[in-house]
Amino acid sequence: MSKLYHFHGGIHPPSNKTQSTQRPIACAPLPSKLVIPFHQHVGNRAKPIVQIGDHVLKGQKIGQSEGQLSSAVHASTSGTVTAIDMQLVAHHSGLPDLCVTLIPDGKDEWITHNGVDYQQTSHSELRHLLRKAGVVGLGGAVFPSDLKTDARHQKITTLILNGAECEPYISCDDMLMRERALEIIRGAEIMRFMLDAAEVLIGIEDNKPEAIRAMQLAAASSGDKMKVIVVPTIYPGGGAKQLMRVLTGIEVAAGVRSTEKGVQCFNVATALTIYRAIQFGEPLLSRIVTVAGNVRQAQNFEALIGTPIDELVALCEALADTNGYIMGGPMMGMPLPGVHVPVVKATNCIIASSKKLFPPPPPAMPCIRCTRCVDVCPAELQPQDLFWFAQSKEFGRAQEFNLFDCIECGACSYVCPSHIPLVQFYRFAKSEIRVREHDKQLADQARERHEYREHRIEREKLERAERLAAKEKSAQPAVIESLTPQQQVELATLEASRAHIRELAKSEVEHTVESPGN
Ligand code: SF4
Ligand code: SF4
Repeated sequence: MSKLYHFHGGIHPPSNKTQSTQRPIACAPLPSKLVIPFHQHVGNRAKPIVQIGDHVLKGQKIGQSEGQLSSAVHASTSGTVTAIDMQLVAHHSGLPDLCVTLIPDGKDEWITHNGVDYQQTSHSELRHLLRKAGVVGLGGAVFPSDLKTDARHQKITTLILNGAECEPYISCDDMLMRERALEIIRGAEIMRFMLDAAEVLIGIEDNKPEAIRAMQLAAASSGDKMKVIVVPTIYPGGGAKQLMRVLTGIEVAAGVRSTEKGVQCFNVATALTIYRAIQFGEPLLSRIVTVAGNVRQAQNFEALIGTPIDELVALCEALADTNGYIMGGPMMGMPLPGVHVPVVKATNCIIASSKKLFPPPPPAMPCIRCTRCVDVCPAELQPQDLFWFAQSKEFGRAQEFNLFDCIECGACSYVCPSHIPLVQFYRFAKSEIRVREHDKQLADQARERHEYREHRIEREKLERAERLAAKEKSAQPAVIESLTPQQQVELATLEASRAHIRELAKSEVEHTVESPGN
């Protein structure tokens, strides 16, 4: 029995998970079209490497990763590229992004792909294979996995597999662990090998008994280095820092990464994707998505990346009073700008909403400083103060109060008796700070460019003056010989005054160069 620790705060919202766990994971049928965004991950958008009219095979790379922090994008099935343009996607900004539209040919024809024996393959080659396969974290962060499995700069002792899945309605990880536990464990073995970690701790909340049994059975073959640990069900116990605290007792302070404490954390679905990428050479083309909420029959589906959400939801029959859709859970998810947006690598759940399920909140009232939000905050922040600073646009103060440690879990809003949409204020403050920092960076770069230009002009002026002086000096002897003594005296006087002026100009330039900001 492993010792468990507690994290501060947390809440117990109704889980609403049983509705979608009554049936096994179904394979969603091939949709009529696929819309695949080039930017589905943290970092730079992938660069398109196909053209309209191209026929592509399933698993063929269609977007090349750009720079170190980026990820490749692949065709989820075989078919024809019919458009590369800006389309509406699931994003907090509500802005469109560059996507490829692919019309399936119905053959689902694969590219040639092969796996490797990971134990006979170098760590750098394994990381390269993950990068090639476009593998990113499927727990929500969508951080490229090739970078997270790089342990060259930090010693990792503990690998945590996150199977907590604490947010209401979402059950894709639960069903994945029930049905594909062995593949998850094989993925965890590959990750342990890549990170050279001493142990793997798999945290699963105690409201998933079937998943716990399946994972325990699968992990038994991996020896005592792999432990399935049952953790209490509490929201947001699936947050990386919170799960790490519960499993290891390690606290990660503000601005510190878990890897600095020797711990790396992956979602269970990412482990399975890593297994398939290394063992079979399969890129990330599909994921499990929970469809729940205001539907006739909630269920989990394996859906191709790019599947239009309306086609996926149709499989569960949204009820007539559905008034919108949420991607993710009700606590941390985002309302979708439309039902035609595609499933992306981060899509773990689609909730059909209705007035009955999610009644509009009563009007927000003033903060009464009851501190209930403080009691439940897992990041041990002062949510009421952050709210005040965000509202009054005192962003510097909000940063001093560790605004960026807020994981936007919504626990504070959930308990607030004044119904203040606290998280919306934090998101607003964070985006304002980011915009201001970006603007400042641009202004600094522009100032530096201007100063460099001034410096260069002055330097060239000085060099020109010196060249001219040298030229005049070399021409002087012949000219001087042809002058009368009187003319030679006048010329010498003129030269002396010119030299004096040059000296004055030079010292002025030197002064300017030393103080470019003046
Ligand atoms: S819970 Fe709401 S009312 Fe109470 S202190 Fe926090 S923000 Fe204010
Ligand atoms: S949303 Fe942020 S401030 Fe509110 S409880 Fe969660 S971490 Fe704390």
